[in-house]
Parts: sequence; C-alpha cells; structure tokens
Amino acid sequence: MTEKNEGEILKEKLFNKRESGWKSKGEEEKNTIFEYAKGYIEFMNNSKTEREIVINSKKIAESNGFKDISEYNTLSAGDKVYYVNREKSMYLAVIGTENIEEGINIIGAHADSPRLDLKPNPLYEDSEFAYLKTHYYGGIKKYQWTAIPLAIHGVIVKSNGEKIQVNIGENENDPIFTITDLLPHLAQEQMEKKLKEGIAGEDLNLLIGNIPYPEETTEAVKLNILNILNQKYGITEADLLSSEIELVPAMKCRSMGLDSSMIAGYGQDDKVCVYTGLTSLVDLKEIPSKTAVCIIADKEEIGSMGNTGMESHVFDTFIAEILNKLGVNKPNLLEKVFCNSKMLSADVDAALDPIYANVSERNNASYLSRGIALNKYTGARGKTGASDANAEFVATIRNIFESNDIRYQIGELGKVDVGGGGTIAYILANKGIDVIDCGVPVLSMHSPYEVTSKLDIYEAYKGYTAFYKNK
Ligand code: MN
Ligand code: MN
Repeated sequence: MTEKNEGEILKEKLFNKRESGWKSKGEEEKNTIFEYAKGYIEFMNNSKTEREIVINSKKIAESNGFKDISEYNTLSAGDKVYYVNREKSMYLAVIGTENIEEGINIIGAHADSPRLDLKPNPLYEDSEFAYLKTHYYGGIKKYQWTAIPLAIHGVIVKSNGEKIQVNIGENENDPIFTITDLLPHLAQEQMEKKLKEGIAGEDLNLLIGNIPYPEETTEAVKLNILNILNQKYGITEADLLSSEIELVPAMKCRSMGLDSSMIAGYGQDDKVCVYTGLTSLVDLKEIPSKTAVCIIADKEEIGSMGNTGMESHVFDTFIAEILNKLGVNKPNLLEKVFCNSKMLSADVDAALDPIYANVSERNNASYLSRGIALNKYTGARGKTGASDANAEFVATIRNIFESNDIRYQIGELGKVDVGGGGTIAYILANKGIDVIDCGVPVLSMHSPYEVTSKLDIYEAYKGYTAFYKNK
C-alpha cells in the first residue's frame, strides 16, 4: 500500500466527504438494512391510501402498547397515546420524563400520495364501454397514469351512515383496471403535442366494463356495472356521491436491482417517512427525556388545507389534550411548548437522477444511498415561500446525527430557478417550532413507481430514533 501524501491527509481532514453509504457497511449491517426493508415493503403493500396507512399505523401502535388518548384520564412519563383524526391523519406520542414546558421532539410525515380520485358522478357509458371519470390529486405527469394496472381503494358512505370499504385490484384473483392510451400507429397528432398536453385531465377515464345488461335497454353496460355494484355492496349510483374512491397503481412494492439495493413502489412519497417515523417511535426502548411525537398528516400533496391537513388546528388540540391530562396546562403553555420544540419535517427529497442531471446542481443535490437528506430550506425562485431552518438548529441536528453515526446529506431541491417544492415544515415553523426538512431521497418522485435506497431508509429510521432520544 502506498503512503498517503500530506495533501491527501489534509484533504481527508478538511473536506466534507460525500460518497455512497454502502462503502462503509459490513455484511452484518447490510443484513440489518435488508431486514428492515422487508417490513417496510410489507407495510407498503397493505397501505396505499391515507385511510389504509392510518388503519395499519394504528395496528402497529396498539401492538406496541399505544392507546387512544381518550382512554387515559391522566398521563405520566412512559404513557403511549394516539389520536386518529377522521380516519385520515393521526398523531402519536410517548410522554417523556422531562417537564413538557421545555419542548417536545416531533417527526412529521404525510400519508397522502398523488393519485386519481373519482369524481362525484363518475359512472358513464360510451360505445358500450363503462367508465369512471377521475380528477387527479396532487402533482402528476398525466401520461404516466395510462396503460398501467390500477386498483380501486376507498370508502362509499350511504346516506344512512353505513360505510363500505372498497379494495379491488390488489389480490391475485381480483380484476384490475386501466386507462387506455392511443396506439402509436394513430398517435401522430398526439405525439406532436407537448408532453403535458399529451393526455388531458378529462381523458383520465377508468375502463371498468364491457358486457351489456341482457334485457334490451339503453346504457346497458352502465346498468350491468351498477347491478354488479348493487349485488356486491348494496349501493346505487347515488351512493357514489358520498364516496372517496382513489385509483392507485395495482403494482406491488418490490425489492429492486440485481444487488437488491433499492425499492420500487407506489406512494413512497411520503409513506417511507411515515414508516420510518412511526417505527422509530414505537421501537423506543427507554422512556425519552422529551415527549416524542409522530405526525401522520393528510392533504400535504394538495396544500395541507382542510380539517385533516396540517393547516388545521387538530394537532394543537392533541398537544393541548396532553397538557390537560398531564395536569400542567395553563394559559399560553401550548404556545410556549411549541416555541421550545424541535421538529424533523419527514418528507422525501428529490435525488439526483443522472439521466436528468441537468435539473440538479451536483454540489447541492441529494444522492441515493448517501443517507438521510436534509433541506435547510425549500421554496422556489429566490427561496420564495421557504421555511428556512436556522444555522443553529441545523448544527443541533448535525450534532445528533454525527454523534450517533447517522449518514446524512444536506442539499436543496434542484437548480436555482428550475423549480421547487414545499412540505408541512412551514406550518409547524409558524407555531414557533424549530423545523428542518429531513427525509429519504427518491427517484421518479410522484410517478406511479417511485425508487428509494434501502440504505437511506434505514438511516432515516436510525436518524429519527436518535432525534427522539435527544435531550
Ligand atoms: Mn411529500
Ligand atoms: Mn409529494
């Protein structure tokens, strides 16, 4: 082996080394990473919508000793509680040993992902095909949603309150559905269009049937479909008015690559942070010093509005309820708690994709497998709309990660003026909480099949654990 020269030694000391995290992982740690990924993949395959995430997160929480906060009259250190908000968002907490006035540690992820929702009057027939009309949810590239297998998930609520759970297309024996695209032979005109205009929003119609009802009548295919729905669920067309049906890719989340280093799956934005945030909380072995809180938010992809979005005050009410049940509440205590609190806004980051490297700035891009990715700020065009974490807080988080041997990288989303994005960070920062975006880098974000690195997922789990344990 050749000796390192002085320059190389100095470089090692002074440069911020940025390289693949896999290089430093031994066989044993690699196995741990792969094992953790299996649990994540299983969670993903049972949790494609925010409602399913909440159901399964509640199961995980309860099997780890968490109870609905309403079951407690008083709270003390070590108690584990949760609150489910309208079946679509959820907050969990482990009460810490320290005076809560000193602040809490929060990890906040979101359960909703881009998808196609059914319109209120979705069902129609055209040329002996039955279709469901959709209105897309969140930022999608519409052309990615044609000619792929889709599943139907959601709820139909009858006017008498009876709720029907729908899930078709996930079991091997289920039918799947698809949105058709034009054959290239006849697509000359379509192919001349701009990519964003190639498929129109109003053309994202789900093909669901082709057999007419046997008796002679008009709209016989639609009638046959309604008859099937009526026999299966006891519903009529009007019941679809009060439904929330989401179309999601009917593709399984899978281990990816010949080296199995990655995971491909729908909705990893932001279920990957839900899973890592949730498991790091429920796996805490010792009672944390600071009360540890996990947020699973809804509606992030469409602006966090509404009573299940982060902009609602339901989260404040949950924390106030904790203060009440601790028996410490007093005027303005909630605001004070928030001002002393820290948060990791656990949301995915756009990883550098070498095929599309021209939108990234290599010195400040996140890379797959280099660990959990932090964004000091988000926003676009001169940081507009950004929630910008203080240098002091970034240093605190660096210290937590460095002293716990967590692989991390700090960057920003894309080149200056190329685009931008936002998360729930600013909403919590507005309450006075120190917040930084901190999540897993993703390729093909918002597509029906997003890609992550198993290493980053495990580093997120470890990083969130270290954050919760921080005093
Ligand atoms: Mn997100
Ligand atoms: Mn997103």
